[in-house]
Amino acid sequence: MSETSTSATNQADAAPLRERMRLSFDLDVDICIVGAGLAGLTVALETARLGASVAVLEGRHVGWNASGHQLGTVMPGFGLPVGELIERVGFEDTRELWSLSREGAEFVRSLAKEELIPGIGLSEGALEVSNVDAGDQLISRLQMLSEDFETEVEGWQVDRVRDQLKTDRYFHGVYYPKAFQIDGSKYVHGLAALARRAGARIFEDTPVVSIDSSGIRKRIVTPTARLRATHIVLAGNIHLGAPLRRLSDTLLPVWRYAGVTVPLGGRLAEVIAFRGSVSDTDGIDHFRIVDGDRLMWASPETTWPMRPQHFAGAISRRIRTVFPRLGRGVGQIEIAEMWGGAIGQTVHGMPQIGQLRKGLWVASGFGRQGLNTSAMAGQLIARSILWGDERWRLFSPFELVWAGGPIGRVAGQIVGLWGRGSSAAAGVLARHRERARAKERIREARLAEANRQAGTRPAMQRRPPPGGVPPHRPRPMRRPPPAADLGEGA
Ligand SMILES: Cc1cc2nc3c(=O)[nH]c(=O)nc-3n(C[C@H](O)[C@H](O)[C@H](O)COP(=O)(O)OP(=O)(O)OC[C@H]3O[C@@H](n4cnc5c(N)ncnc54)[C@H](O)[C@@H]3O)c2cc1C
Repeated sequence: MSETSTSATNQADAAPLRERMRLSFDLDVDICIVGAGLAGLTVALETARLGASVAVLEGRHVGWNASGHQLGTVMPGFGLPVGELIERVGFEDTRELWSLSREGAEFVRSLAKEELIPGIGLSEGALEVSNVDAGDQLISRLQMLSEDFETEVEGWQVDRVRDQLKTDRYFHGVYYPKAFQIDGSKYVHGLAALARRAGARIFEDTPVVSIDSSGIRKRIVTPTARLRATHIVLAGNIHLGAPLRRLSDTLLPVWRYAGVTVPLGGRLAEVIAFRGSVSDTDGIDHFRIVDGDRLMWASPETTWPMRPQHFAGAISRRIRTVFPRLGRGVGQIEIAEMWGGAIGQTVHGMPQIGQLRKGLWVASGFGRQGLNTSAMAGQLIARSILWGDERWRLFSPFELVWAGGPIGRVAGQIVGLWGRGSSAAAGVLARHRERARAKERIREARLAEANRQAGTRPAMQRRPPPGGVPPHRPRPMRRPPPAADLGEGA
């Protein structure tokens, strides 16, 4: 089994060294971007396209962290459920935010073309499945998404979901025909290539160790060079560190791990007919078929870095739990490759996008849904810097909130485990109820059949005897027990 890791303690840098360029001379630019992940690279591409001189400084290499290790599912919306967003900022602003998130997804689609990024492998459609039987909630959600948020969605009944995914784990589903998936790693490297082509300069192995953002021309220091820029964009996610530690402290780091199985042959198609991405409403499992008969699956999370390899067994077990038929006869489902990356989770669940002070910008905290949201952030920041577009202010209600430091991480892990545990418990309960209902239906059918054969009707359906309901016969009163039986003082 091979392993790709982005943990700070154990990393296997995959990018070939010869392609990397380190910054070893001083530079003056319009815009300096810290971090070459999805967020930093989108800002770079968009600002360079609009004619600015741009330098991206990356401490490791392009896509080193989460951006190079994501599953490539592009959906509209944010990590925060739309209902909570409405509670927080009201209906009208939620509509605008949602529409920006859709623009982000469309931006990714506009680049995800074979002629721009060879091998990007775009395929359509994503399905969000519910772990609990919540059909009513589903209907109101569908109505809201399609009528109020102009998002194409289809509600799938339990039967349809289970026709596509042979498991009793999932109930209803929301199908997004306009969502899509791409090769996530190819996308981030393609984004870097496009940004370079547009004129941005990307320097790798170039960590930013400090910034001075007080003047009109801001200063950026790396171990081997100094830069001056009118704008600095901090897109370093949880690893930003020294340049603005207070900013990285507002993110709860969550390491998410994923793996891909060995080829599973025809049995995979028998169990999973759906060809797009599947994610559950609790944000636990996220999977899809790749290379025809391999299953790519993300699920385990920790709030400190661990070797992705440790979780191969957990992913294999999880696949067998959700799809028992896949493991039948073969026992273990072999995992061919594991990888992981750290996402930055904000306390309020929304990304951090905006201007901290004049010329100092932030684009981070994209959580588990970073493809559309980082694209949206890149566009918003580029257009604000170069065109004065002020729509990033829609994110102002989501302030920078301290994530609790190391204690916050421990709490985060506990809350995460508890959340997953309670989702699992809710799932167990929903499946138990479903089985109980099925048993009840069988029992009723048997009873009806027995009654039919016996020529009688079930008790409930018997007509009242002629003359109406029999008079109520009071039961004889039981004598109260002697006081001694009730104990002293009764
Ligand atoms: C397993 C997994 C699966 C995922 N699947 C999906 C998915 O299917 N769809 C989806 O939308 N999202 C997905 N995500 C989430 C998505 O990957 C992230 O939200 C997104 O990549 C975050 O991008 P970013 O640019 O903010 O951060 P990062 O990818 O962390 O990039 C930040 C970069 O900044 C650099 N940096 C930091 N500090 C400094 C410094 N001081 N100097 C220089 N450089 C610095 C880092 O080295 C890093 O390369 C997934 C994440 C994981 C881990």
